[in-house]
Amino acid sequence: MDPHRHDPLWTPHDRRQHPRLPDRRRSRRAHPDPLGRRRSRPRRLIDTPARVARSYRELFAGYEVDPREYLERTFQEVGGYDELVILKDIRFVSFCEHHMLPVVGKAHVAYLPTDRVVGISKLARVVRGFARRLQIQEKMTADIARTIHEVLRPEGVGVIIEAEHSCMTMRGVDVPGASLITSHLIGVVRDDPRTREEFMRLARG
Ligand SMILES: [Zn+2]
Repeated sequence: MDPHRHDPLWTPHDRRQHPRLPDRRRSRRAHPDPLGRRRSRPRRLIDTPARVARSYRELFAGYEVDPREYLERTFQEVGGYDELVILKDIRFVSFCEHHMLPVVGKAHVAYLPTDRVVGISKLARVVRGFARRLQIQEKMTADIARTIHEVLRPEGVGVIIEAEHSCMTMRGVDVPGASLITSHLIGVVRDDPRTREEFMRLARG
């Protein structure tokens, strides 16, 4: 009788590829499991839990950073510049907090400075800092905008995010290619029609 017949990770196909894997009974005798679990995992999967843990650590590195710090440490005097600063097409990968499935998209971030600006890479870092967490897109959009607003104290901030949610495109209603668009506007980017329109045109154009 096949000793692996109850193991969902074990198929006859695996067995053909690894004819010298010890059978479960012998393996258990050699390395008894203190919790009494079955030990019949194919050899090529033995390191998988550790690999998954390392990859999750990287994908959720946003929990180890405070995106505010990217802006707090590095701003410079504005030097007379008083137009919109906009960084568009900031690509990111995040994970929805409902299904832990990938959310892949891009963010467009703009602000109208008063007295301070930051290097553009810092804006991308803020996006990544929030993306590399379990997220819902609406919250992420607002978090990015509020962080820029609180630290740089600009006259206005605009954030637009467009993203594809795997929980919707590869399962559930299963609509490949559909993307969710969210925006969060603060200050003159929200209230001044000319500034808002300029932001929308630059971001979507
Ligand atoms: Zn989801």
